[in-house]
Amino acid sequence: MNIHEFQAKELFVKFGVASAPGRVARTPAEAEAAAQELKSSDLVVKAQIHAGGRGKGTFKNGFKGGVHLCKTPAEAKELSSKMLGQTLVTHQTGPEGKMVNQVLIATGVDIAKEYYLAILTDRATSAPIVIASTEGGVDIETVAEKTPDKIFHEPVHPLLGLQPYQARKIAGLLGFQGAQFRQFSDLLLALYRLFIGCDCSMVEINPLVVTPDGKVLALDAKFNFDDNALFRHPDILAMRDTNEEDPREVEASKFGLNYIGLDGNIACLVNGAGLAMATMDIIQYAGGKPANFLDVGGGASKDQVSAAFKIILADPQVKGILVNIFGGIMDCNVIATGIVAAAREIGLKIPLVVRLEGNNVAAGKTTLADSGIAITSAEDLADAAKKIVAAVAAATE
Ligand code: GDP
Ligand code: MG
Repeated sequence: MNIHEFQAKELFVKFGVASAPGRVARTPAEAEAAAQELKSSDLVVKAQIHAGGRGKGTFKNGFKGGVHLCKTPAEAKELSSKMLGQTLVTHQTGPEGKMVNQVLIATGVDIAKEYYLAILTDRATSAPIVIASTEGGVDIETVAEKTPDKIFHEPVHPLLGLQPYQARKIAGLLGFQGAQFRQFSDLLLALYRLFIGCDCSMVEINPLVVTPDGKVLALDAKFNFDDNALFRHPDILAMRDTNEEDPREVEASKFGLNYIGLDGNIACLVNGAGLAMATMDIIQYAGGKPANFLDVGGGASKDQVSAAFKIILADPQVKGILVNIFGGIMDCNVIATGIVAAAREIGLKIPLVVRLEGNNVAAGKTTLADSGIAITSAEDLADAAKKIVAAVAAATE
């Protein structure tokens, strides 16, 4: 799960990570009031979306930039009115962009130098790692590609945690001195406490800045949380903004289904992540492209299967469905009953290939055969993939 920058700022305050004060606004009038409360003659208005590259983004109404500096509450109001309710396109949103429903009004900060700072889980070592660079404010991927020597990596021992000497080492590598050396080390240690305390999988500050009067501040914030740990953090879970998520994934999560939207046209309804992976691979191998990854899990109910089927059928991109179930714990007849119920309710108009195997398979096959719905059954995985790819090709010709 991701959160917005204004929410990240709340966590910064809680954990003592220095950043500029700010308030969220949902209307231009709220933006004006927020700017007045900040009592500063330097202000910044920032579009709140779950994507980076806002500064260089462009709104679909032609307005340029999702980050703007201004001086007065009236200007903050005017700028907000150009952003709220508009779609912002950045290099991270894709061409469809993201709707801006909220803006952050923060105290504007003068910048002497920009840095990059992140803590994330390193997949190679399955442990946290600090990544820092003197090249802040720009795309870190570009820095990594063109000048990799300007990026510093500091692995952290997962049990010992980030040690003060490591924070000082990074401060030194970045060239901090005097008061800023101390400020940076303190900020990094606080950020690490936040990273662990909130079960983050990533916190990224780009840019971290030094102001002309020598303050070290986090100016931007991108967070990612480990979804499997969210049950421990109801306060963070409350920050979830489902407007930012794929509506199909939101719907699926209501039914306890694991759903990931992809860009092909063959829907896969599968039980178990391993089988889902294998199914997607074999669809590709047969020359097709999966439209999603939908895992109903080990012991789904008829209602869950039916909900899964409806989510799939509501997607206009889907031109065919492959159901691939291996009934270990799962009863094949539960799957079959759910499929038949959903197909009847919605009216199935696209090819459906079903491969059922395992627990109570004979009853499941009978349910499908007796339903009167046009279902192609398959003997094994390869057969199923070939049949659905051929059926979709024939249907879309
Ligand atoms: P992003 O484009 O989505 O990563 O959004 P950022 O929060 O990083 O803002 C984009 C850029 O705007 C930053 O890299 C800064 O250079 C600039 N910026 C953001 N806030 C301020 C501010 O308070 N003062 C100044 N001078 N520049 C800012
Ligand atoms: Mg940034």
